[in-house]
Amino acid sequence: MKKTNWMFLTHILIYTLTLILFPGCTEKEATMKQQFPVQKSDAEWKKKLTPEQYRVLRQAGTERPFSGIYTDNEKPGVYRCAACGAELFRSESKFHSGCGWPSFDSAAKTGTVILRPDNSLGMTRTEVLCANCGGHLGHLFDDGPTATGMRYCINSESLKFEKKDPAE
Ligand SMILES: [Zn+2]
Repeated sequence: MKKTNWMFLTHILIYTLTLILFPGCTEKEATMKQQFPVQKSDAEWKKKLTPEQYRVLRQAGTERPFSGIYTDNEKPGVYRCAACGAELFRSESKFHSGCGWPSFDSAAKTGTVILRPDNSLGMTRTEVLCANCGGHLGHLFDDGPTATGMRYCINSESLKFEKKDPAE
């Protein structure tokens, strides 16, 4: 009788622990495998992008500072995602940060980019991703010189500039 009670209690304990632990695991997994509207296989992205675009956008690489074609671009227009074409940033929010990458103080619209904690390379940073395809764009820092206080440090390889905003 005593043994049966112990077994019963153990089962209850395991069941409760599973309930507590399991939702935590699935939530973490869901964040890792976030679903984006644009879904392509690795092979499809490789075919669509240049090797350098693939390295930055799909493998969270970083282009060499001052090497990107848009770092000093001052023309009016919109910056689209080089992978999926979604509008990400506008020339009005671009500024010269001196960091060697195109810098913006805000995204084109709310929800065009998503932010994710990035603890790689022994640093605590905020990764910026395209909300439409999940492509890696760059990082966000809160030391911007404008009113927003934000500095979106974005790789030129992740962007495709379109002169003048067609919506305006
Ligand atoms: Zn995209």
